[in-house]
Amino acid sequence: MRAMTADPPERAAGPSTGSPRATTSEAPPSPALPPGFDPSRPRGGLGLDPRPGIAGLTPAALEAWVRERGEPSYRARQILDAVWRSFARQPDELTTLPKPLRAALGEAFRLDTIAESEVRVADAGRTEKVLHRLCDGAVVESVVMHYPAGPGHRERHTVCISSQAGCAVGCPFCATGELGFTRDLEAAEILDQVRDAARRLAERGRRVTNVVFMGMGEPLLNLDAVLAAVEALNDPRRFGLGARHITVSTSGVVPGIRRLTELGVQFTLAVSLHAARDPLRDVLVPLNRRWPVAEVVAAARDHARATGRRVSYEVTLIAGVNDTPTDAAALAELLAGELAHVNLIPMNPVAHTPWTASPPEAVERFAAILRRAGIPVTIRSNRGVEIGAACGQLAAERAGAPPPPAVQRRRERLLRASAAALRRARLADGARAGSAGPAVAAASERG
Ligand code: SF4
Repeated sequence: MRAMTADPPERAAGPSTGSPRATTSEAPPSPALPPGFDPSRPRGGLGLDPRPGIAGLTPAALEAWVRERGEPSYRARQILDAVWRSFARQPDELTTLPKPLRAALGEAFRLDTIAESEVRVADAGRTEKVLHRLCDGAVVESVVMHYPAGPGHRERHTVCISSQAGCAVGCPFCATGELGFTRDLEAAEILDQVRDAARRLAERGRRVTNVVFMGMGEPLLNLDAVLAAVEALNDPRRFGLGARHITVSTSGVVPGIRRLTELGVQFTLAVSLHAARDPLRDVLVPLNRRWPVAEVVAAARDHARATGRRVSYEVTLIAGVNDTPTDAAALAELLAGELAHVNLIPMNPVAHTPWTASPPEAVERFAAILRRAGIPVTIRSNRGVEIGAACGQLAAERAGAPPPPAVQRRRERLLRASAAALRRARLADGARAGSAGPAVAAASERG
């Protein structure tokens, strides 16, 4: 979901970099296939490359591959270092390996699954939006956000990555939702977005400090590949990022949240809520028709209790749609007593919607109602609006804007749907205010 959000400044970003276009190979896929890699899956587009991405390989799989070639096991360590410390893109860069092994590695694996990257810089260098073209022509986006050091914390460099090319959920305020779904990403394709950012940061003596799965796609609908990517990011032999610096978001895939809870993985869970009442959430997050908001919050509550980790709830605020005192009070009631933190994010403008960001005073009023109810809140500022940093905006631009009549029809449809949803929500509030729901009733009077 995902407007890119932020805090204060940093320095200018470096020049646009692009990894070299990947080559194709007739070599058969390695038997050590990484999670999320399915060689039988249709992979149309610019190039068909049957080699799995090396970043998706576990150390055990890599050691097995090295052993099969009669090489000593320390070669696996050298390869891991090249992939995860030097962020190598080509076999030639692995100069510690003998040439025949380098050649064999290049025949078996893609050192980089990203064919080309285009970087756009905004916010005086604090935001870098990157459009990645994958080896089959699919396009995904990542964003690097720089935060300066402040009282009690060091500088941070957060990478927001995509887990799918496009998205099937279809949230109407999101440019990715408008694009539709292309395909799941392999673990290596997810990880190579992080390696791309890490490579550019390393050139400036910096490193990635946080990774958030809040780019294109619904991570819990590509759960195996996302879990494999999280494991690689967290593994000290690979990327070595602490689990508390990794956030996985979901728009409310309840079975996925339940599975994460069973696994007990210690990263932060972020739930993109956007509305606390079903009629409105049905419009803003269509997945809500399958898993209503109460079920989503119940699953998130169980996750928080099982892991002891606070759940982060994301609310994109849209002027006049979900930013009223009644909405805030309904959210306060829904999250009362939860181990929760709410992030409020004014909506990034998206061409196909009729909606705009909530004004600052509405955001402050919303936050105040939550705080009065004892719920911690952070107001995020939008990042990279001038470069289309909200998820899917660049890719949508590349896909070609829909013709104006289609945009107009979509805007009218959204206006009708949201107006009807608001009417239904208000009727439900009226009924509840007559019997219970004191916070909602009080807020309705104030609003
Ligand atoms: S359409 Fe997909 S990517 Fe966009 S906000 Fe919804 S779940 Fe997230």
